[in-house]
Amino acid sequence: MSDFMQRGLDKAHGVTEVEHAVVEGIDISGYWSRMLDQRMTTEFPTEGLDWITSLDGGESLRNCYQCAKCVPVCPIQQVGDYGPWKMFRKAQRGSNFLDDPDLWLCTTCANCLRVCPKEVNMVEIMPAVREQAVLEGAMPDELGEVFANLQKRGNPQGESPRKRAAWAKEAGTEVPIISELGRPVDVLLYVSDYTSYHPRGHDAARAMARVLNTLGVDWAILGREEKSDGDSARLAGEKGLFEMLAEQNIATFSKYEFDKLVVMDPHAYNAFKNFYPALGGEYNVMHYTQFLAPLIDRMEFKASVERRVTFHDPCYLGRHNGEFDAPRKLLEAIPGIELIEMPHYRANGYCCGGGGGGMWLDSLMDEHVSERLSERRVREAVDTGAATLAVCCPYEPSRFEDAVKSTGNEGALDVLDIIELLDRAMHPEA
Ligand code: SF4
Ligand code: SF4
Repeated sequence: MSDFMQRGLDKAHGVTEVEHAVVEGIDISGYWSRMLDQRMTTEFPTEGLDWITSLDGGESLRNCYQCAKCVPVCPIQQVGDYGPWKMFRKAQRGSNFLDDPDLWLCTTCANCLRVCPKEVNMVEIMPAVREQAVLEGAMPDELGEVFANLQKRGNPQGESPRKRAAWAKEAGTEVPIISELGRPVDVLLYVSDYTSYHPRGHDAARAMARVLNTLGVDWAILGREEKSDGDSARLAGEKGLFEMLAEQNIATFSKYEFDKLVVMDPHAYNAFKNFYPALGGEYNVMHYTQFLAPLIDRMEFKASVERRVTFHDPCYLGRHNGEFDAPRKLLEAIPGIELIEMPHYRANGYCCGGGGGGMWLDSLMDEHVSERLSERRVREAVDTGAATLAVCCPYEPSRFEDAVKSTGNEGALDVLDIIELLDRAMHPEA
C-alpha cells in the first residue's frame, strides 16, 4: 500500500495515530477494514417486529433467518405475492401487519412450518396479530358478519339452530337425537356446520347415517344443541368467540354419556383434540375416517364404484394431526376404486384455501391472488386423470365444485366425500 493510500484510509476512518504492524512490507494491522470495526447490523426500524414478537403466539417470527425454504411450499406464494419470508421482510421494515391485507391471506395450512428450520410458526403468528386487529375492529367486513352469526346463532351461516338436524328427515334411515334417547351411546356424532346446513353437506350426513346404521353402531347426534366448534374463528382472530363456543359445547357434551366423539369435520377434530382439553373438555375424539377404517371387515359392499379417484388431504386432518392413512384405507377398500395420488399429497398436501378463516374470505383473497387455491387444486386433480376428487372435510365439496365449474372442468371431475363413496358401494339403492 502506498503512503498516499495509507493516509487516505487513515483520514477516512478518522485515524490520527495508528500503530502499524508491518510484516515483510505488508501492513497486517487491518485497522482500515470495516470487518474489524464495531458495526451497526440492525439498520431497520424494530418497532413492528418487536410488537409482533411481544404477542402471545407471535414470538417465533423473530427466528426467521431468510433461508426461503418456505417460498416453494406456501400455496399463497404460488398464486400471489405473499409468504412467511416476505412477511418477515415487511416486519423488518417496520410493519406490524395491522393495516396490511396480507394479514388475512394465510390459511394456516402449516406447510411452511413443516419445512422451516427455525420453526417460524405462522399458524400461531397470524392468529395472534389477527386477534389484535379484531380487537381494534380492523378486520374484513366478511369476517365481521361471520363472527356476528357465530355469536348469535352458533353457526357461521347465521342459520336457525332449530334447522341444524333438518337433513335427518330425508336420510331414509333413523337418526337418533341423544336428548331423546335418554341413555348413554357408544358414539356421539358431531355433524358440524357445513354438513348440517349446506345442501352438499346434507348428502354426506345422510350417507353417514345409513353407513352407521348398517354397521350396527350405537350412535346419536346432538341435533339443535350442536354449535360450531369455533376453530376457524380462533384462527381468524376471534379467540374470545372460540372460547365462548367451546364453553357452550363442553357444557352440552357434559349432559350426556358417550364413549367416542366422532366428528365429520377435521377443523372440529383439531379443536376437540388439541384445544378443548385446556378448557376442561377431554374426549376420545376421532375423525370419522379413523372410526370407520378399523370396521372395513364388517362392511358389506353390494356395488362396485368403477372410477379412478384422487384424494385431497385436509390440512387439519393430515399435516396438523398426522392422519394420512385412514382415508386411503377406506378408499382402497371400496370395490372398483383405483386410487391415484396428486403430486402434492400426504404431508405436502396442497391447501384448498378454506382453512384459518379462508372459507369466509374468498372476496378478499380474490383481490390478491391470480387463481383460487381450490382452482389450482382442481387442476392438479384433473391432471392425474382421475374422474373423482375424494374429500373428507365439509368445507371441500362446495369449494371444489365451484372450482370445477370456474376452471371449465364440469363433466371431467366430480367431487365426493369418502362417506358418499362408501354409501354408494354399501347402499346402491339409496
Ligand atoms: S423457512 Fe422459516 S426461516 Fe426460512 S425464510 Fe421461511 S420463515 Fe424464515
Ligand atoms: S401456513 Fe400455509 S398459507 Fe400460511 S404462510 Fe405457511 S404455507 Fe403459507
